[in-house]
Amino acid sequence: MDKMNSLTRRQLLIYGSAFIGSAFISPCLSRGLSQEFLNNTKGNNTIKGNVFLNDGPLKLWKWSKKAYYFKKLKNKKIMCTTCPNTCVLGPGDRGICRSKININGIAYTIAYGNPCSVNIDPVEKKPLFHYMPGSKIFSIAAAGCNFRCLNCQNWEISQKNPEDLKFYDLFPEDILKQAVLSKSAAIAYTYSEPTTFYEYMADTAAYAKSKGLGNLWISNGYINQKPLENLCNLINGANVNLKSFSNEIYKKLNGGRLKPVLKTFKTLYRKKVHFEITNLVIPGYTDDEKMMKKMCTWILDFLGPDHPLHFLRFFPKYKLKRIPPTPVSLITRFRKIALDMGIRYVYVGNIPNHEGNNTFCHSCGKLLIKRHGYNIVKIEIKNSKCSFCDSKIPGVWNS
Ligand code: SF4
Repeated sequence: MDKMNSLTRRQLLIYGSAFIGSAFISPCLSRGLSQEFLNNTKGNNTIKGNVFLNDGPLKLWKWSKKAYYFKKLKNKKIMCTTCPNTCVLGPGDRGICRSKININGIAYTIAYGNPCSVNIDPVEKKPLFHYMPGSKIFSIAAAGCNFRCLNCQNWEISQKNPEDLKFYDLFPEDILKQAVLSKSAAIAYTYSEPTTFYEYMADTAAYAKSKGLGNLWISNGYINQKPLENLCNLINGANVNLKSFSNEIYKKLNGGRLKPVLKTFKTLYRKKVHFEITNLVIPGYTDDEKMMKKMCTWILDFLGPDHPLHFLRFFPKYKLKRIPPTPVSLITRFRKIALDMGIRYVYVGNIPNHEGNNTFCHSCGKLLIKRHGYNIVKIEIKNSKCSFCDSKIPGVWNS
């Protein structure tokens, strides 16, 4: 999933002409399999986020808002129903995601208008390869996450309290103003887990939509159905990270469950939202070929062949520093298998100069989009069709 690259306040003010791209992560040398690796992958260790008892701020601040999805329980307890964690919070407690609290029997978000990361990214970085190629996307995140991924790329913001990262003061109207000034094609809710700053995202997205700007949701897909249904009416595209196709691995690697994520994909499909799927291939966790084939079969059965699938190369990070990077040959093989199985658009990520960074027509096989890093070198799609054979190419294309 896309990695943050924060702007300073000053940069934010002068970004008008700036286009913040990021270099690919530098390749690391394989360090061999460590004891940490063996313990994590072979054992039955599961990770689970816990609610933080008596940890919430005592008072609301200007970046608080009553939560949109919660139930009142006895003794001033509440159950947050935004995501499948369904945290039960007593007064003074804080949810697993660190951004919802209970004050006097009411649930509040404390991540409303205080993004910790604000950037202008190329849409390719999300990654979204079938959504207005070459567009600039105004990208925001607030602190917090409902997962505890061992390989988190953005743990400096996802595993922090919103009150510890007070970098910006941007309410929905301010976000829209900045997005328009920067000539961005859409606003992306990204980097950490946007479901955990749901109220901020939904209000910003509704406002942006009313003014004609697009909204993109870059997520782990761990969200309950009601908030998701509402969100589907506001967004124009999504990239959802399908972290593995095993509930056991979700429990060991991410602190979540597979089923709710699959439900998310089905809802996005039913609501006709353009979405792409990301799958990070981590040695020892998610590199099992059988599991990958099962995942592709499920995608074909329930979502069809037209939703782009991105296999990303893993690099050592956070709590998985001693696991070697994914061999490029494995990602290449996974891509070929998925294409052979019938998924029409399969890409690679974090591997520069690989043909899997480009788009080929599913019908005539000609090169439609040539990418160099995040730059578009050539594009052969006109009126949403292949310039060579006139086949319709799935996606949202620049007119
Ligand atoms: S959004 Fe946060 S508080 Fe609400 S259920 Fe999910 S993790 Fe818990």
